[in-house]
Amino acid sequence: MKKHNFYAGPSILPQYTIENTAKAIHNFADTGLSIMEISHRSKQFIAVMDETVALFKELLNIPEGYSVLFLGGGASSQFAMIPYNILNKKAAYLNTGSWAKKAIKEAKLFGEVDVVASSEDKNFTYIPKGYTIPSDADYFHITTNNTIYGTEIREDFDIDIPLIADMSSDIFSRVLDVSKYAIIYGGAQKNLAPAGVTFVIIKNDILGKIERSIPTMLNYQTHIDKGSMFNTPPCLPIYAALQTLNWLKNNGGVEAMEKINLEKAGMLYNEIDRNKLFKGTVEKEDRSIMNICFIMNEEYKHLETDFFEFASSKGMIGIKGHRSVGGFRASTYNAMPKESIQALIDVMKEFESMKA
Ligand SMILES: *Cc1c(COP(=O)(O)O)cnc(C)c1O
Repeated sequence: MKKHNFYAGPSILPQYTIENTAKAIHNFADTGLSIMEISHRSKQFIAVMDETVALFKELLNIPEGYSVLFLGGGASSQFAMIPYNILNKKAAYLNTGSWAKKAIKEAKLFGEVDVVASSEDKNFTYIPKGYTIPSDADYFHITTNNTIYGTEIREDFDIDIPLIADMSSDIFSRVLDVSKYAIIYGGAQKNLAPAGVTFVIIKNDILGKIERSIPTMLNYQTHIDKGSMFNTPPCLPIYAALQTLNWLKNNGGVEAMEKINLEKAGMLYNEIDRNKLFKGTVEKEDRSIMNICFIMNEEYKHLETDFFEFASSKGMIGIKGHRSVGGFRASTYNAMPKESIQALIDVMKEFESMKA
């Protein structure tokens, strides 16, 4: 039976990425060696790094004056690395979910944190609006896509202080104006590569403005100066990321991807809104196009396990909602084909006809 992979992360990757990476595990760039056993200083791997950075910049239209880094440690390490490198006195944060809260916790180790707005009062089912960003803060931090709750900011804010965004789960899902941001970062395991590599897009001139000394490995400048090769980079995930970027380019780039993503999400939200058994969990205007959360309507709550088992029997994988939301979550990253969305919709319809 065909499996439809709706996992939130690590998550679905293009078949192209998996096949090419598998080939390179056996024989990388005609070296007769595996990508896993070749020096990161070899000319073949340096070419991979250079190409990955170049394609990353090309696909996101990254302007001059920015660096693209590939680091270890996950997005979670960035929660601390950002304030370590650029928080002087005060930083502003938008609290839109668990990941934002974790970022706030780390920032507090380095200075004053002004949480300008929070949607925690309603279990993060909306994106706060109409707040004021203090002009004396060193930066404003947002989580553009809230992977757990299924809300998303799909707009590039125009603000007066440096804007920093955790885009772990929506990078490459929509056209982006990188020039509006000082730092964009994320774990690659949601929309780009297997776990193990963290991307950081950083505006070079944001650095060098703080007094404290920073450990070498946690200093962005180290990695900018050495082109992410100060220490051994995560070679295999970077190679896989390059395959995904090639796949993206071959499929029309981010613009084409955004169009398909909107279409896919629209199809599934339409079914959630139409189907008598289900309802969405977040404000419609803030709905994510990457992580689609839904629950059973009150009178059908007792059917939750039944639906989960029915869907599983039809090949739907990873649709269990995060424990802090419950219900279901379908992650519809770039690599997810429209056919899988349709298959899930068919299952929802079939279950409705059996039960409602
Ligand atoms: C998954 C996720 C993280 C955590 O990423 P790690 O690489 O596991 O540290 C952080 N932020 C968001 C928005 C995520 O979806």
